[in-house]
Amino acid sequence: MLRIKDIDTYYGHVHAIKKISVNVDAGEFVTLIGANGAGKSTLLKSIIGLQPVKNGSIEFLGERIESDRSDAIIRRGISIVPEGRRVFPDFTVAENLAIGARARKSTSAEMQEDIDKILDQFPRLKERWKQKAGTMSGGEQQMVAIGRALMGRPKLLLLDEPSLGLAPLVVAELMTKLKEIHAAGATILLVEQNVTLALRVAQRGYLMESGEIIASDDAKALLESDAIRKAYLGIE
Ligand code: ATP
Repeated sequence: MLRIKDIDTYYGHVHAIKKISVNVDAGEFVTLIGANGAGKSTLLKSIIGLQPVKNGSIEFLGERIESDRSDAIIRRGISIVPEGRRVFPDFTVAENLAIGARARKSTSAEMQEDIDKILDQFPRLKERWKQKAGTMSGGEQQMVAIGRALMGRPKLLLLDEPSLGLAPLVVAELMTKLKEIHAAGATILLVEQNVTLALRVAQRGYLMESGEIIASDDAKALLESDAIRKAYLGIE
């Protein structure tokens, strides 16, 4: 579905992404893990056209997208849950979800169907339907951000560190939700610093360091690999 081949991305002279290749097949749940500053967010920005790609190619459903504008890429069926959630704080849950639908130009019947499905997945949002998103807890806001991204049935869902700033129990609940969303048919690329949790929910993983992919494998194998055990779990 998504084929990233040998891309480079720069911020001025900073070479943030160095000849990276990443694939996500339809129906897969893939995670991209790594420490602060490894380049994970930059890779997501490159996919959705927010940071220009220097070399290489990005194919989505067989078509080149690396020179497309962001709005065109989103219309092709890629949705992102950005770092820091970025819900519209003064808008209600209902309004935040409606904005997600507008970005995809859904009809009102499709929009209602999507809302019903999302409220089934996130009953808490149903309870808070008319509440302003800015007054909700971090975990609830994350659900709004995911719900908004799911409006319009994206073919690929990108998430940038959804666990950031959430309490461990809330993070566990969130990861379970992502697993359910995947089981319901979504294709997911999850960026996370929370390496162990991400590798427990995803099927496959890529480990990034200083702008490069230094390991990739099935999630379980990666979790047990020396690269992860030494760098992240402190096990020699
Ligand atoms: P984090 O988890 O902290 O977001 P990350 O793995 O997502 O880390 P990136 O945010 O992609 O890392 O950053 C990769 C590198 O690019 C870092 O060295 C960072 O300092 C640099 N960088 C990121 N954004 C910019 C920018 N707007 N201008 C210049 N350099 C940047």
